[in-house]
Amino acid sequence: MRHVVTGGAGFIGSHLCEALVGRGDQVVCVDDFSSGSEANVAHLAASGRFELVVGDACQVLGGVEGQVDSVAHLASAASPADYLARPLETLAAGSRGTEAGLRLAHAHRARFVLASTSEVYGDPLVHPQPETYWGNVNPVGPRSVYDEAKRFGEALTSAYRRALGTNTGIVRIFNTYGPRLKAGDGRVVPNFIAQALSGEPLTVYGDGTQTRSICYVDDMVRGLVAMVLSDLAGPLNLGNPAELSVLGLAHLVLELSGSSSPLSYCPLPEDDPLRRKPDITKAKELLGWEPTVSPEEGLGRTIEWFAATTGPPPGPNLVI
Ligand code: UDP
Repeated sequence: MRHVVTGGAGFIGSHLCEALVGRGDQVVCVDDFSSGSEANVAHLAASGRFELVVGDACQVLGGVEGQVDSVAHLASAASPADYLARPLETLAAGSRGTEAGLRLAHAHRARFVLASTSEVYGDPLVHPQPETYWGNVNPVGPRSVYDEAKRFGEALTSAYRRALGTNTGIVRIFNTYGPRLKAGDGRVVPNFIAQALSGEPLTVYGDGTQTRSICYVDDMVRGLVAMVLSDLAGPLNLGNPAELSVLGLAHLVLELSGSSSPLSYCPLPEDDPLRRKPDITKAKELLGWEPTVSPEEGLGRTIEWFAATTGPPPGPNLVI
């Protein structure tokens, strides 16, 4: 098979490209390096089954030639810090980028998979969140550039399926972490790990009682590959239901890294969701998928990767 992966040089995208190349498939990775980087995929070139197209998915997808069996649209800023810094590009990636991917897939009678997000649930009033929950999103708040772009992407994807018969699927990706997250990414896991390893205070936003459910990237990518190879419409939640408070996560990172960094409390960002946990009943039933890596194990591996690649030398207490 030959797959087009937009955002393929990003955090989740690069792991997806690696898994598809690992299956023996061909991959065309489209990325403008606005948040991804060539270093994430450089090792795939040697396979002979990997092509890199550098450019914005909104503009370059029309120029993709040759066989296309699937298009997975992951291109977007995903860290709140990134999408708040590039609001218009984020709206474009979710709207025009999704449309460009759908057009390409439709023209080739290929499978299209939209990487949507748990953010479509906004600050959820239902817990845990099943796919049937319509969400609680502020359409004009700062996060709306991401949330509403993804919601529009879901609407567009659903319309292509209904109106044109395109073979589409939607996954809603919950917080994901693992190797290749950037230390300066701004999201909670890379922030806490980088801070713990360098002995700086861990920046807890608000009182730290807000929750997230974090999924190790290998588990996420297994779900994504299964979705690409299926013809399920979704939407399907992909995430690990292991729910942690931000404060609990901070203590776990300190324990696993052996760091004695203090905690530093900072203001809670506007519209920061209070609780988030996926109901993955549908993914289990329809896709036969569920996560297998616990937060302790996955965070341990991620801390090891950060210590080996990006962080300063680990302190004498490092227990991993
Ligand atoms: N957060 C935090 N400290 C940080 C970064 C984030 O306490 O240095 C909090 C943030 O306010 C949110 C949670 O961690 O409640 C997850 O934030 P992240 O940016 O990772 O992703 P989100 O789930 O909000 O998209």
